[in-house]
Amino acid sequence: MENNKRRIAILGSTGSIGTQALDVIAQHPDLFEVELLTANNNADLLIEQAIKFKPNNVVICNKELYQKVFDALDSHYIKVFAGIESANSLVQAQDIDIVVASMVGFSGLEPTISAIKAGKAIALANKETLVAAGSIVTSLARKHNVPILPVDSEHSAIFQCLQGEYTEIEKIILTASGGPFREWSLEQIANATKAQALKHPNWDMGAKVTIDSASMMNKGLEMIEASWLFNLPTEKIEIVVHPQSIIHSMVQFTDGCLKAQLGAPDMRVPIQYALSYPQRISLNTERLDFAQLKELTFYAPDKERFPAIRLAYHAHNSGGNMACIMNGANEAAVAAFLKEKIKFKDITDIIEKTMGKCTFVPQPTIEDIYNTHAQALEIANSLIK
Ligand code: MG
Repeated sequence: MENNKRRIAILGSTGSIGTQALDVIAQHPDLFEVELLTANNNADLLIEQAIKFKPNNVVICNKELYQKVFDALDSHYIKVFAGIESANSLVQAQDIDIVVASMVGFSGLEPTISAIKAGKAIALANKETLVAAGSIVTSLARKHNVPILPVDSEHSAIFQCLQGEYTEIEKIILTASGGPFREWSLEQIANATKAQALKHPNWDMGAKVTIDSASMMNKGLEMIEASWLFNLPTEKIEIVVHPQSIIHSMVQFTDGCLKAQLGAPDMRVPIQYALSYPQRISLNTERLDFAQLKELTFYAPDKERFPAIRLAYHAHNSGGNMACIMNGANEAAVAAFLKEKIKFKDITDIIEKTMGKCTFVPQPTIEDIYNTHAQALEIANSLIK
């Protein structure tokens, strides 16, 4: 890697991806430097991270927590700002090379667009950004000549398989763990509790993505994310359930050859690859022992038990703002499920109904996308109460 350290901003530094990104950075202080950390509400952890990594700036998005963070960091010569608008402008600072976009949900869209406009490389963990505004975000990235480096494990796997390849892709195979309800009946899934849905068998992730994994909406969102990242139509993206989560995804080429990326499930691997790309650097993750692995199994996902997959293909094939509508309704429904206001089955019912009621815009502008998200939340929330 070049002599100069890569200077990194982490949007959402106190979340699951943010903390693991800081773990990677801590292991390679010779290669990486933290310039900006932002968090929504976790002031205590933000303060702790700032004292350890010494960024120039931190942003606490919840303005009520500003004084607390300021008081804690003032003597450390770290500048403290409040509000999402501060994150949107500070992410454009000259001394930042890479922006890790790891905020949760639609809220990641605005700062990611702001970073792209300033020409920053994006390490994208926030799949909702591409689901809601894929056409706008990818064309902006092309215009500003900005790489979008995938952090999602499946997309990182595909990206790794594509290194050195210049020919057409026949299809990509997105692997899915199947989540905690993989073997449950329709009836059992319908009545699953919050605690059951939050228990993911393989991956350690935040609450939103863990619920999305349980409904398999996560795989639907990832299918749309893959379509934008790799410029492929939905017919060329196949979802396969692979309960062991050892193969993180595959690419099939026109000669019938397949490439797969394998490894122990550890989010630090794709996070680190996005930060060190095109180099690989050392990581203290578990090594696979093939003699111990015994078996890798695969089967097609069940769209009856997991209607989210059907909804995601329908949304993306409809084009326009439909995936944005689906995403907004999903965010509202998942939040309501986490507050135990609705049953698990209601999540996809609410999404489907919202997709039927929201105003369809065939060629949305960015303003249309923000309006669509607000309308989808409003309709979904009206169905929740
Ligand atoms: Mg993933």
